[in-house]
Amino acid sequence: MRAGVGATYRGRFAPSPTGPLHAGSLVAALASWLDARAHSGQWLVRIEDVDLPRCIPGADRAMLQQLAACGLVSDVEPVWQSRRSSIYQQTLEQLIQTQKAYACACSRKDIELALQTMGQEKPRHGELVYPGTCRDSLHGKAGRAWRYRTERAAAPGTEPGRITHWSDRRRGAQQQDVAAEVGDFVLKRADGLFAYQLVVVVDDAAQDITHIVRGEDLADNTARQILLQQALGYATPQYLHTPLVLAADGQKLSKQNGAQALDTSTADAALAALNQAAQCLGLCNHGTRDNRGNALAAWVEQWRATLQSATT
Ligand code: GLU
Repeated sequence: MRAGVGATYRGRFAPSPTGPLHAGSLVAALASWLDARAHSGQWLVRIEDVDLPRCIPGADRAMLQQLAACGLVSDVEPVWQSRRSSIYQQTLEQLIQTQKAYACACSRKDIELALQTMGQEKPRHGELVYPGTCRDSLHGKAGRAWRYRTERAAAPGTEPGRITHWSDRRRGAQQQDVAAEVGDFVLKRADGLFAYQLVVVVDDAAQDITHIVRGEDLADNTARQILLQQALGYATPQYLHTPLVLAADGQKLSKQNGAQALDTSTADAALAALNQAAQCLGLCNHGTRDNRGNALAAWVEQWRATLQSATT
């Protein structure tokens, strides 16, 4: 961790407006904001509404209001991904031209059948490792989606695939063999929507993001994003994945398992929500006697001290 990066630091919080802000998303928002402030950097909010069918109308504005009630306000005008399709399309075309992306005709069923034939049925986190059916030919079928062509060993089984290495500021040294563990991943889906992996990489580069601070549930995407950054000639930001807030049943707290919308309707409620998020990040509790501004300022100091102790 490097403290004092100063004006070069640009961080971001990139919520998907699939519901209101909940306790888990506030942890990522607060951590990314504190890291930006502790580095005297900028903090940007980007609305990741690229998967429109999953987005709830009005949730974007509601989230921005909840963040503002917590004192977390973007340093520049927020960006909406749903307005940036032409940039994503241009980037996809660049990858197609350089043969780093290819059309794929496979449905999920086709992929399952191909994996079964190869004796590899086990899904990885519910995601199937793409067997590479359309890598060299569409076999006379019509392309439905676009995939990123991962680098593979010349003869399968003779050498390991290309391993991506990176360092996470909290989790330490990380590595993933994307070709073997994920396979050629989707950049544009069969329904015409751009995939998260592509849009996040395009926007982080377009916004000159130097530091990404987000929830640990997203850590597994990092290697795919680094591969895309390299393919497109973008710099790789530094990554920090924050601990997840777990629901009472031990599962990841999410909008899907009924995470409560945060109450930020009064100053006391917003401070209580912030205190809960801060606690999750190992920061001290400021109780209800303090105000939001003092609490945030104290957490910035605490965060900065942690950065400094990590560099000494
Ligand atoms: N949009 C993602 C989410 O709401 C965050 C993506 C990211 O930070 O890279 O979970």
